[in-house]
Amino acid sequence: MSDNRGNSRGNGRRSSQGSRKSPGNGRRSGKKKRQAGYRLANVNRGLVILIIIAVILGIYSCAVRGDREIVNVDASEPNIDVQLLDVNPYSRPGTQVNQINGIVVHYTANPGSTAQQNRDYFNGLKDSHKTEASSNFIVGLDGEIIQCVPTWEMAYASNERNADTVSIECCHPDESGRFTDDTYRSLVQLTAWLCVKFNLTQDDVIRHYDVTGKDCPKYFVENPEEWEIFKENVGKAIEKSSAE
Ligand SMILES: [Zn+2]
Repeated sequence: MSDNRGNSRGNGRRSSQGSRKSPGNGRRSGKKKRQAGYRLANVNRGLVILIIIAVILGIYSCAVRGDREIVNVDASEPNIDVQLLDVNPYSRPGTQVNQINGIVVHYTANPGSTAQQNRDYFNGLKDSHKTEASSNFIVGLDGEIIQCVPTWEMAYASNERNADTVSIECCHPDESGRFTDDTYRSLVQLTAWLCVKFNLTQDDVIRHYDVTGKDCPKYFVENPEEWEIFKENVGKAIEKSSAE
């Protein structure tokens, strides 16, 4: 773009000089006009090339974004590895939940850790007493899903929404908190399945951030447009199942 601006400024200066020095020279001014015409054609050609590049870049960025937009899952029950925690005051209080009004998405904030490691950490809290923490589900790096607490029982994940939501923790490979494609796909399916199960929509799916303002799940807090795309994917998965 800066090249084009430079050319047109140069043309303007040269043609005004030309008209001052030789006002009566028709042949020369005609040649100048033709030259200016060629330059204009060059500028136009440059613009066309720029537009083509912009279109190609646009298509490319859509394609890159598209891998997260086109998630070919429905709301059917995913494979769930049920490994319920032992009932204990630190991670599975055994408190019954009466009504599920939402699904809360989390990230483990422990890069590279697996679903199994996180499940075992939660279960180990009954002995370590380090903190009170757990989650109904954990989605692993390869898309595997472990259930730690039944959906009709409270988990310790979402603070004041523990009593009326189902929580899903997601593993992530690095500090960015971005989920792998496998994790993402399983998360969409699991969330959609839970929505159908509890008669909810994608609008009832929230981030831990929406409860407490905590930076969780980090990638979806820092990239709110990706969060919207995720919810759209959940909605599409629900639609797909209801159409069948
Ligand atoms: Zn969280």
